[in-house]
Amino acid sequence: MFFGDFGACLLVLAKRIIEYMSRGKNEIIRLKSLSKRYGVGDAEYYALRDINLTIKSGEFVVIMGPSGCGKTTLLNILGMLDRATSGEYDFDGQSVARISRRKQARLRSSKIGFIFQSFNLIPSATVIDNVALPLVYCGFGKTRRHKIASKVLGRFHLNEREFYMPGQLSGGQQQRVAIARSLVNSPSIILADEPTGNLDSRSSHIVMEELKEIHAQGNTIIMVTHNANLTTYATRVINMLDGTIFTDLQTVVDKGAVKKTKLEVKKSRRRVKERTKKVKKVKVKDAAAN
Ligand code: ADP
Ligand code: MG
Repeated sequence: MFFGDFGACLLVLAKRIIEYMSRGKNEIIRLKSLSKRYGVGDAEYYALRDINLTIKSGEFVVIMGPSGCGKTTLLNILGMLDRATSGEYDFDGQSVARISRRKQARLRSSKIGFIFQSFNLIPSATVIDNVALPLVYCGFGKTRRHKIASKVLGRFHLNEREFYMPGQLSGGQQQRVAIARSLVNSPSIILADEPTGNLDSRSSHIVMEELKEIHAQGNTIIMVTHNANLTTYATRVINMLDGTIFTDLQTVVDKGAVKKTKLEVKKSRRRVKERTKKVKKVKVKDAAAN
């Protein structure tokens, strides 16, 4: 009996050691049973429910799912713009809950770049000032800030637009300026929330090619999109539903694998649609019964 318990303890210990050792050094994000609740009492609502997720450095993760399933909430928590209600979040090996707000802001500005659907450029500032903005928090002087911003804008062939105002640029150009701004601090991770949502297909293609290039340089990208075609850029496709991870497919960027992934994504989207329909039917029945 004693040896049975001892053996079980040893097994648990061995499992923990294996778990600990298998925590890759290149793991950048680890979520454990993470939930986000809004409201209280009858109005209580879980935007995220018990999410377990590990993302390694260098991955290109595409997150898909119907509107309202929690994609933006998840991205905001990953970017430390919002806090989870329960669960654990480790960023780069550190528990976010144990990092002060001030240090979180510092981490955010040095390691994370944000790209939003609506570009979020300051309309009254020039292109170069917009791109240089994150450097203000690093305490650099204006000349140095402009020098760095100009170099990044050069990568996007936007040098001749440096002193334009954002309103004088096309949507595609504005998003490329926003991408330049997200890169100006040389972050290791880019969080993009529907970055091509407001763009036509040609501008979308240009923006995605830029993101592909950034990924090829070793950066981690986590991108939310509604466009299934963009999964071709991903090394991993996550489908969310009702605040949970419904499917999580690792892919390799070769044509065969991409084709297979597209098929699997289509299948899982179909399953999501069917499930949503079923839930709606049940709700209608319930409403009728009441
Ligand atoms: P998605 O980006 O997938 O469309 P969101 O993450 O924006 O979804 O939202 C998930 C759910 O959480 C939605 O039902 C939304 O209404 C709700 N939600 C988001 N932000 C808030 C908030 N600040 N207060 C209350 N509910 C919210
Ligand atoms: Mg959203």
